[in-house]
Amino acid sequence: MAEILPKYVGRLAPSPTGALHLGNVRTFMIAWLRARKAGGRVVLRMEDLDHPKDKPGADVQAIEDLKWLGFDWDDEYVQSRRKELYRAALEKLQAQDLVYPCVCTRKDVLAAQSAPHAGEQLYYPGTCREKHLAWTDKACWRFKTPEASRVEFDDVFAGRQVQNVAEKLGDFPLARDRYGAGYTLAVVVDDADMGVTEVVRGDDLLPATPAQILLQRALGLPTPEYCHVPLLVGPDGRRLAKRHGDSRIARYRAEGMKPEEILGRLAFLSGWRGKDGPVSLPELLDAFDLTKLPHEPCQLSRFGREG
Ligand code: GLU
Repeated sequence: MAEILPKYVGRLAPSPTGALHLGNVRTFMIAWLRARKAGGRVVLRMEDLDHPKDKPGADVQAIEDLKWLGFDWDDEYVQSRRKELYRAALEKLQAQDLVYPCVCTRKDVLAAQSAPHAGEQLYYPGTCREKHLAWTDKACWRFKTPEASRVEFDDVFAGRQVQNVAEKLGDFPLARDRYGAGYTLAVVVDDADMGVTEVVRGDDLLPATPAQILLQRALGLPTPEYCHVPLLVGPDGRRLAKRHGDSRIARYRAEGMKPEEILGRLAFLSGWRGKDGPVSLPELLDAFDLTKLPHEPCQLSRFGREG
């Protein structure tokens, strides 16, 4: 009998902490093209749990921009409407005595670093683990990372990954919300609940992935495939940010650029097309090939009309 393969389900997971920009769009292009090329489904998940960083209206604007660019999806979810699921997952972890409230400040955690750290991934030595603290609104939930926490996986793009989570991150944070509504817990619950088979996202999240895998195991959830792709960087080689100028889609729209021009230029700069020029997402399906995606960050130079 023919083997029945699970159908590919991918996702686009914007955070409404700011306007959609070229960097997000490039990653979403890869995610969308991977899914559609596999004949799979696409889920749009608005990750709006990051108060107070979320900007009012950024969610509606991101969806507007994505549709204008020609993205489509089969299901749409909003994390802030799914808090019951995160709460149930937290309770499951509590029942196994796998979480605890921590009241250390960022300053405390920074002081506990023994090695230089990069970005947001801080090591936490478990200072609050044995204190049996009650929850307060200043607390966060941390996962009791077991001693045996070496995680290995083969990233579809970035290759073999090995991390000892206890050594690298220690007891990592799950959520700043009393009932568990926070990025790490929500992403793990949602990827499983939405049947996501492959996570395509920026490689800034690569160091956070082994912790997500440990959490999946603790909750008895499946581990999807991971495909971490390089980010778009500015001419100085640093991750695209405000200092590189305005790269919001809204800006190029206001300047009169057409969606196909934006997609075409991103595809050209990414090396998927030999020539610059307008192209739609479906037109890119044939040419798109993950194995041809450069492993170096994609350098953004000359984008807008004014060059
Ligand atoms: N919402 C996250 C972001 O915009 C992405 C999280 C994920 O893909 O797991 O950075």
